[in-house]
Amino acid sequence: QSKRGGRNQLSLFDPKMQQSVIKRASIEAELQRALERHELRLHYQVQVDVWRQAIGAEALLRWHHPSMGSVPPSDFIPIAEETGLILPIGHWVLKTACQQIQAWQASPKTAHLVLAVNVSVKQIRQKNFCSSLLGLIERFQIPPSLLKLEITESLLLDDVEETIKTMLELNRVGIRFSMDDFGAGYSSLQYLRRLPLEQLKIDRSFIQDLENSSSDRTIVRTIITMAQSLNIDVIAEGVETEAQRELLQSKGCIHYQGFLFGKPVDIEQFNRLLS
Ligand code: C2E
Ligand code: MG
Ligand code: MG
Ligand code: MG
Repeated sequence: QSKRGGRNQLSLFDPKMQQSVIKRASIEAELQRALERHELRLHYQVQVDVWRQAIGAEALLRWHHPSMGSVPPSDFIPIAEETGLILPIGHWVLKTACQQIQAWQASPKTAHLVLAVNVSVKQIRQKNFCSSLLGLIERFQIPPSLLKLEITESLLLDDVEETIKTMLELNRVGIRFSMDDFGAGYSSLQYLRRLPLEQLKIDRSFIQDLENSSSDRTIVRTIITMAQSLNIDVIAEGVETEAQRELLQSKGCIHYQGFLFGKPVDIEQFNRLLS
């Protein structure tokens, strides 16, 4: 044993490392059953305009496991992506989202709300993604313009052509796209030129130090100006303070999402928050 393992292998016996390997393995095994055991839920985080009026919401996946407790998306989404489990899970998210849009149609107070759903590029690349999504829209009889798909630029990297084709096809029927975490990746500007985007979502990392960082203010101002001249809507994510909101507004950003307006909450709380 000591012959094979030199100093490099010491890490194998590092209890912290071992723990995280075990944690990963159990997340993977448990995630397989999460759907059928109804352990997944959607939470909703409000998106507002300058008058603090709700214009829509982002659907955010929550997993409550009976013994592990709530597992954050950052712990299970990457595993879901790697294992392919994101496909059935992502379909469940879209189905639940369409169902919710349908429910909101029943009241004039909520009928205008646009629901933003995070989709993995792995999902979009499925052969039947378009037909399956159009099937849901048909089944729940919802206006396609109330569904917004958030895609993350860092995930786009390869096979962009196919992804663009799918996006255009969905765009033609009225489904809109927002580029999530804008600015955090490497090739944002390329995508801006080539993808049918209705909205950019400025990454939270540019918002959090807005008050103290003049370079962040410059970047944010530049993103907003650029988006405006391209006729693309801008929303800021992770807005936590009124000072941040004011700075954003002064630069022309009029759509916001963040703890300042509401944390992601279950649907009962969300509907209460609206009234
Ligand atoms: P995201 O799409 O960028 O979502 C925004 C994240 O920021 C959410 O974390 C939200 O709870 C958090 N957040 C919102 N406002 C604030 C704020 O004011 N301050 C701070 N500090 N955080 C704020 P969450 O829910 O943990 O989700 C993390 C990521 O997991 C999401 O980032 C998204 O990439 C992914 N995700 C969540 N649900 C889904 C899903 O249904 N499908 C896929 N493919 N990915 C999902
Ligand atoms: Mg998002
Ligand atoms: Mg985001
Ligand atoms: Mg983000």
